[in-house]
Amino acid sequence: MNTSEPAVAALFDEYGDPAPGPFSPHIELLPTVNSFNAVQNFANAQFTLNSVVLTPHSRGSVTLNESDPLASPMVDYNFYAEPLDLEIMRQSVRTALDFISTPEWQEFLTAPVSPLLAAVIKDSRNDTEMDAYIRASTSISFHPVGTCGMSAVDSNWGVVDPDFTVKGLKGLRVIDASIMPFIPAAHTQAAVYVIAERAADIIKSTAS
Ligand SMILES: Cc1cc2nc3c(=O)[nH]c(=O)nc-3n(C[C@H](O)[C@H](O)[C@H](O)COP(=O)(O)OP(=O)(O)OC[C@H]3O[C@@H](n4cnc5c(N)ncnc54)[C@H](O)[C@@H]3O)c2cc1C
Repeated sequence: MNTSEPAVAALFDEYGDPAPGPFSPHIELLPTVNSFNAVQNFANAQFTLNSVVLTPHSRGSVTLNESDPLASPMVDYNFYAEPLDLEIMRQSVRTALDFISTPEWQEFLTAPVSPLLAAVIKDSRNDTEMDAYIRASTSISFHPVGTCGMSAVDSNWGVVDPDFTVKGLKGLRVIDASIMPFIPAAHTQAAVYVIAERAADIIKSTAS
């Protein structure tokens, strides 16, 4: 992240650097096309450079649907509740635009897919246009975690203890992505394998 940007520097002062280490990224740029068919039929292809905030500070929630507890739960991702996340996304979109502005892309990219994106391409320093585009086009990145967060035994928050047992209950463990207290600055599958291996070791050692 470009900390010479005053807005970024001020938020890093307030929140601290959200990356887990000095060489860890804050964003990911993930290229996709609208379909493999479109790759073969190039004229109809839509190219997307997805911007991902890897270390969001905003916390979402999953709650029971009170009017019908058997219905799907209420999921609130709570995107951009923390201003740091929005600023990192602005920087991410600007980085993506810089990347696709290079000469190599020009013969492939013809027109933006929406007026909101067109406005951002025209003036990427305009935060009003940028925020309208970001809020209209944000979605999740298939990596929800944290609904049963792991915390220290004497912690006043969290759902499971470090041995994966549910606090206050006997004989019940949770072993999946939901126990990650925060999302790792990476895709989540490898972390799930680590969690599963660790839990297997603990269960084997306590069973013998
Ligand atoms: C479209 C998509 C693409 C992804 N791509 C990547 C990627 O490229 N790299 C990466 O690192 N991560 C990726 N992820 C994230 C990764 O797949 C998840 O973080 C990971 O699979 C979570 O593991 P889990 O064990 O917590 O849950 P899951 O893998 O979802 O496993 C839950 C299991 O529980 C079963 N289940 C559900 N309800 C019940 C029930 N009532 N009774 C019995 N069984 C039940 C389900 O069938 C499922 O097998 C992707 C996720 C998605 C959705």
